[in-house]
Amino acid sequence: MNDRTALVTGANKGIGFHVARLLVEAGFSVHVGSRDIEHGERAVAEIGGDARLLVLDVTDPGSVERAAARVDRLDVLVNNAGVQPVTGPPTETGVDDLRRTYETNVFGVVAVTNAFLPVLRRSAHPRVVNVSSGTASLTWSTHPNPQFAPGSPRSAAYRSSKAALNALTVFYAQELAEDGIKVNALAPGRRATDLVPGAAEGGGDPAEGARGVVRLALLPDDGPTGGFFSWDGTPVPW
Ligand code: NAP
Repeated sequence: MNDRTALVTGANKGIGFHVARLLVEAGFSVHVGSRDIEHGERAVAEIGGDARLLVLDVTDPGSVERAAARVDRLDVLVNNAGVQPVTGPPTETGVDDLRRTYETNVFGVVAVTNAFLPVLRRSAHPRVVNVSSGTASLTWSTHPNPQFAPGSPRSAAYRSSKAALNALTVFYAQELAEDGIKVNALAPGRRATDLVPGAAEGGGDPAEGARGVVRLALLPDDGPTGGFFSWDGTPVPW
């Protein structure tokens, strides 16, 4: 058992898998969150070291409760699990599309964070990293230069879900600051994963995005909280 313990949600593949792998390499015991047992076991075997499967569907209250009951120490929580159902601009986005997206990207993060807070509070250096998206930046979305407004106003459900996640990041950070719990959001950059059909084309290495997550997970005690950062460490405007 290592000194430091982490949980990464949605760690069976994509960016989350690399975050879990890098945290094991950094000396953590890592709970590899996966809603599918077989996929999770495969990831754990591939990561090796002190990686262990934690079955966790962030949208299922019973699953969250059972997972939290199995973890008695936690220093780092990475809310990585996310979905991006293919939706269009707001006028073509149904309420069901929004609900489906928010269930995982927003409500799931709140459910998991609140369930694991009691163990996080016992850590000497507790950190929460919320994996957001640069496409959630309202500053970039409203920038006159289209280079900064990627896809705007498409993917309204996904992008607004991550903007909500950003807001929650600030509010959690403010509430938990006096407990020493740092809460930050990370934009991992466009990565070649299964997130959306075709995302693998033209996307960068997911491991590079994961390194940005790990940087926030390992922040020193005088590091920032309530911030939004790119994978390379530069601040992202809200
Ligand atoms: P991915 O390869 O599709 O991985 C998503 C992970 O989330 C999978 O492990 C998936 O599990 C898991 N997941 C989805 N719903 C879940 C649920 N209800 N409970 C538990 N786990 C669930 O996509 P990714 O690109 O690595 O995405 C990771 C994070 O990065 C997401 O939050 C995403 O929004 C964010 N992001 C990605 C990009 C990009 O370009 N890839 C850019 C910006 C932000 P299953 O395998 O069971 O589906």
